[in-house]
Amino acid sequence: MSIDDRIVQAAARLGEGIDRHRPAAFASSLGAEDMVILDLIHRLALDVEIFTLDTGRLHQETHDLLARARARYGRPIRVLVPDGAQLEAYASTHGSNAFYESVELRERCCEIRKLAPLRRALHGKALWITGLRRGQSAARTDVDVLGHDAANGLMKLNPLADWSDADVQGYIVRHEVPVNALHARGYPSIGCAPCTRAVQPGENARAGRWWWEQAGARECGLHVDANGRLVRTQRGAPATQ
Ligand code: SF4
Repeated sequence: MSIDDRIVQAAARLGEGIDRHRPAAFASSLGAEDMVILDLIHRLALDVEIFTLDTGRLHQETHDLLARARARYGRPIRVLVPDGAQLEAYASTHGSNAFYESVELRERCCEIRKLAPLRRALHGKALWITGLRRGQSAARTDVDVLGHDAANGLMKLNPLADWSDADVQGYIVRHEVPVNALHARGYPSIGCAPCTRAVQPGENARAGRWWWEQAGARECGLHVDANGRLVRTQRGAPATQ
């Protein structure tokens, strides 16, 4: 499929998904895929809340990108931050960087800094839009375009599920979409600063995330279950295949 066809298809998925499932929220990690979706939402003037999670441990380059996105698109972007009391309890009990010590302490940090704020953002929403792609990692090869997320009680739309790296890069170049400066320094996937490093040639896009852990555990829990498997949505009729 040509990039032109891909763009038309993704635009239809977004438009139809948001029309059918209101209210909708777009969760942007400010990654390359999410910047493509933000650009599409802007071009199509879609009625959807846009939010991002500021974990308190992001790279300066990610903060810089958020500022550039605000200036470029002029749309409100809600920023959710972790609960201060939970952060204080974690740091006091385990230490602020205890996520290096065990998977359990890493997951607890992700729960406080990412999952709890995400649940707040999704509360009352009918549709959750994400930039998940099947090609991002072995854990994501089954990503549906549209499905029901029973855990969060809403529909989940991944409009770029079947896009390739080249599709994403082609869109970014064509529309001069702002992206994180770290991508050019070997960071295809960017999370929190202490938990992300550059990847080596030939490694998959998420190899630099939680690199000290077993490969199967390397998800923050936003899209996987307690066993590290992708949370399967019950496939709905995709807005546009
Ligand atoms: S990615 Fe690292 S710093 Fe960020 S929430 Fe998870 S464990 Fe904490």
